[in-house]
Amino acid sequence: MVEPRPELSKLSDYVPGKSIEEIREQFGLTEVVKLASNENPLGASPKAVEAFHKIADSLHLYPRGDAPKLIDAIAEKFGVRKSQIVIGNGSDEIIDMVGKAFIRQGDNCVAITPTFSVYKFTTLSNGADFIGVGAGDSKTSLADLAAVVNEKTRVAFICNPNNPTGLYYSEKEIREFMAKIPASVLVFVDEAYAEFATAADYPEMSKLLGEFPNLFINRTFSKIYGLAGLRVGYAMANEAVISAMWKIKPPFDVNQAAQVAAIAALGDTDHVNATRKLNADGCAALTQAFEGFGFKVLPTQGNFICVHIGERAKELVGFLERNGMIIRGLASFGLPEHVRITIGKPEENEFLVELVKKWVEA
Ligand SMILES: *Cc1c(COP(=O)(O)O)cnc(C)c1O
Repeated sequence: MVEPRPELSKLSDYVPGKSIEEIREQFGLTEVVKLASNENPLGASPKAVEAFHKIADSLHLYPRGDAPKLIDAIAEKFGVRKSQIVIGNGSDEIIDMVGKAFIRQGDNCVAITPTFSVYKFTTLSNGADFIGVGAGDSKTSLADLAAVVNEKTRVAFICNPNNPTGLYYSEKEIREFMAKIPASVLVFVDEAYAEFATAADYPEMSKLLGEFPNLFINRTFSKIYGLAGLRVGYAMANEAVISAMWKIKPPFDVNQAAQVAAIAALGDTDHVNATRKLNADGCAALTQAFEGFGFKVLPTQGNFICVHIGERAKELVGFLERNGMIIRGLASFGLPEHVRITIGKPEENEFLVELVKKWVEA
């Protein structure tokens, strides 16, 4: 048999949230609500949908791999140079490209854990060791992360706000971390949920790029912009780092529809603001409801809440699924007693709360 690379023996398959279709079929349901993958409950920006329809006439043409208009739009929004930006087929592909461009066999990569599993996957698949710092649902200080950085460390992953806890680091904390570690360590700040953050001291990372040549900012169109199905992510960093990324980037990875929809979505501030408002209101309502049931809810800066249910967390997830509600159990993240719930529309949140009430009372 053809042997795969030995690094693959350490990998397990990515565990995604369950799909609506799966649950419909499994339990013979018609109505299923999914609050499990942090998608935008309002859908994509109507402007992005319109741009998507318009591009249908040119599906036979290759996209422009260098996506000049999308890169221009990002550069303008953040006040950075075009040469400081790269795009990818979702920010997942950007993480993958960082692995290919920077991680060598025998290196290590460090991260605050529990966190998004793709960092570990990319690290191991490139033959490096993964060092996770922190456990449980309390905030681990970045000083503890700096303490495990050594001469073999290539990338430090910081998910900010963190998936699945919703906890965040301030600009001050990130600056102190940057000052402690060598400039040879790429500091990969994953800001998939940055647009939802409301804390006054949540950092504006693009302003720090000039100061730190080893800073890498990862962003996505999948969450607040509602384009998870189209797959577009982008990153900002020092020009030398970005130029290495373009070298290993698959040439046509971000398709035409994704490019035009992303440009339209970036310009639709009404949709972004409506999503933020829906999120803030839903977050307050869900937090109050779960606290009312006696569960601990972590303070969140994202579009989801992390709730400590206890030993029966898995049972709750199963009960909800049988009743047409999908949330995310967090055993695969190392938090078997917690669940992660995407903040939905008011009626979706209310449906969830009604079901949890039934479960608690039974
Ligand atoms: C959802 C998510 C992403 C993935 O985004 P894509 O752009 O859809 O690949 C990246 N990082 C974190 C932390 C996420 O939660």
